[in-house]
Amino acid sequence: MRMPTLNHHLIGLIHKSSFKKQFIFKKTELIPCGFKDPLNEDKFKKTKGLIYRYPDRVVLTTTNRCFAYCRFCFRKNNWEHFEGFSLKEAIKYIEKNKQIREVLISGGDPLTLENGELEKILNNLREIKHIEVIRIGTRALTSNPKRINRETVNLFSRYKPLWIAIHINHPDEITKEFRESARLIVSSGIPVISQTVLLKGINDNTGTLKKLFCELVKNSIKPYYLFGCDAAFGNGKFRVPTDKALELVKKLRGWISGICMPTFTFDLQKGGGKVVLEPNCLVKREKNRLLFKNFEGKEFWYEDI
Ligand SMILES: *Cc1c(COP(=O)(O)O)cnc(C)c1O
Repeated sequence: MRMPTLNHHLIGLIHKSSFKKQFIFKKTELIPCGFKDPLNEDKFKKTKGLIYRYPDRVVLTTTNRCFAYCRFCFRKNNWEHFEGFSLKEAIKYIEKNKQIREVLISGGDPLTLENGELEKILNNLREIKHIEVIRIGTRALTSNPKRINRETVNLFSRYKPLWIAIHINHPDEITKEFRESARLIVSSGIPVISQTVLLKGINDNTGTLKKLFCELVKNSIKPYYLFGCDAAFGNGKFRVPTDKALELVKKLRGWISGICMPTFTFDLQKGGGKVVLEPNCLVKREKNRLLFKNFEGKEFWYEDI
């Protein structure tokens, strides 16, 4: 596994001990565990860098370069063994498959590409009539916020409807520069959502998650997914047991605003896809009456039709 170097922005923040574990190699990663390709994305590759798993949307892995190289990356195998990306082939495939209405530009981090390269991708996608929405997944706001400037935002604006999905795992990642980048994007009418990975020793406590999600909403970012950590090579030390994870979610649901609450999701191994997990609130059912446990742990009967 390549030992990535940290960029300037991350080095400036590395004294914040709680979240630096995301980026710094530790020997415990060498404990053998996990899979090379935990989501079995290879099985769903249609062309070079195009993953088609769900009926109406595709992912493009446009690069293997990233601003962060998180130690728990589920695509860490791509760091060294990237098959590349063919825009021409991807466009041809999407053109032919008219049920695809959304394209998720991912990587690596697609914002490591030059604006010109990015524009070429966006432009080609926008020429396809059935493509309604473009989504860009990036860690730029948290790991290289200066990448988001007036020029970048103008580029995004030319290809609306376009959504930005950011990756963030800890409230310490919300810096002054982060806020400024978020403000630039949001004020140009581009919605921003966030994805977080639940990580042992980094954010696996109610306080940290609550603070992270509420701060995101204060910055007009909608927490979208909270993911279980995928079983990629060496990820064992980061993974939170499911029961504990559900306990954490239970302490958030209802206790924080619904806007602040992401959907807790696993991406199943062997390519099963995403499944949503919620603590079970249905206690029992008797004919048309259902007994529920609310967020406070109190039980209430509900009359069904
Ligand atoms: C997560 C994912 C998507 C996007 O799924 P959403 O639920 O729409 O966010 C699309 N394709 C693949 C392969 C994915 O892993």
